Amino acid sequence: MTDLSLRTAGFTDSVIRRMTRISNKYGAVNLSQGFPDFQPPQEILDRLAEVTKEDFHQYATTWGAQNFREAVAEKQKKYMGYDIDPNSEITVTCGSTEAMMAAMLSVTNPGDKVIVFSPFYENYGADAILSGAQPIYVPLIPPEYNFDAEVLEDAFRQHPKALILCNPSNPCGKVFTREELQLIADLAEKYDVYVITDEVYEHIVYEPYKHVYFSTLPGMRKRTICCSSLSKTYSITGWRLGYVIAPPEIIDRVKKVHDFLTVGAAAPLQEAAVVGLKFGDDYYRWLQEKYTHMRKLFLDGLDRIGLPHNVPQGAYYVMVDMSEFGYASDLKLCEALAEYVGVGAVPGSSFFREPENRYVRLHFAKQDETLNAALERLSDIRKKLPKE
Ligand code: GLN
Repeated sequence: MTDLSLRTAGFTDSVIRRMTRISNKYGAVNLSQGFPDFQPPQEILDRLAEVTKEDFHQYATTWGAQNFREAVAEKQKKYMGYDIDPNSEITVTCGSTEAMMAAMLSVTNPGDKVIVFSPFYENYGADAILSGAQPIYVPLIPPEYNFDAEVLEDAFRQHPKALILCNPSNPCGKVFTREELQLIADLAEKYDVYVITDEVYEHIVYEPYKHVYFSTLPGMRKRTICCSSLSKTYSITGWRLGYVIAPPEIIDRVKKVHDFLTVGAAAPLQEAAVVGLKFGDDYYRWLQEKYTHMRKLFLDGLDRIGLPHNVPQGAYYVMVDMSEFGYASDLKLCEALAEYVGVGAVPGSSFFREPENRYVRLHFAKQDETLNAALERLSDIRKKLPKE
């Protein structure tokens, strides 16, 4: 048989989703793939039940149902602080995974360079391969995950087409400061580069940190393609509802990519989620408090066990330093962790471009009992984890 596509030849599967399968195989408490084990808000579920009896079973408008786009525009205006035209500045996608892919395909040509901070969410690597773009990696240096401004400017000097900004950041929990974002903005302006943002954790930020939307920096709206989703904010990762917000000339392209890629996000789910988009400020405060509680419970537990870790400023992941166990391969360590300790984690190396194998990523978007069960198992790690 003749060869299959070069484009897909170098692909591995998603390590994050593979770790979920490995966790399930060993009955481990799965803290690998980041999704909550608690219910979405009841109002959204109630509305979903009603929607099944209403007339939402055929395609919605390909770039998103009118009322869903209006609700996104209204809600985002409140948090981003500027008017968004629901007709020309939004495309609704199947999760922010599609949003990011559609943004990449709309902005880059094969061979274009794209700046990616490392560690990075693994989809960006695949997005680059599928769109033919070449990543230029700029390290976020642990344990603080700061970047070197000179190294960043060196990346800009290579004339990239775009920079991908995950803020708050998966996996390292960094919330970029206004000063850091301004530095990126100045370079984006100087070298005429687009910025594609992944802001799915926009409402999961811990005091005293504040999320600043990149598009709100002076002059940046015209060059920012904001991608986000409802997955994390409303605990509905399986609904696959995401969106792109950008200026009309960019959205026009994104709409076309989206139209031919997926046609549209699920119509009944868009309809049911509108009620969530209309929640008041109290909901987002509640969410922040809930995650602050989960972060404290989990990080305090890690401290008691004596496992060193970073303190995330946002999102719901923690990087745990496993170097004391002496594994050369963090993938092997994660497999052993699932099998012998009973906790699912993601090997840090799947996020880093640099040769880094000290870390595993655990997430804490879980009920207290799940987190306590994981901590209970981790408390035996030094007895149970075999030597490599
Ligand atoms: N964003 C989540 C994570 O990093 C889920 C990834 C996925 O499987 N879509 O774990």
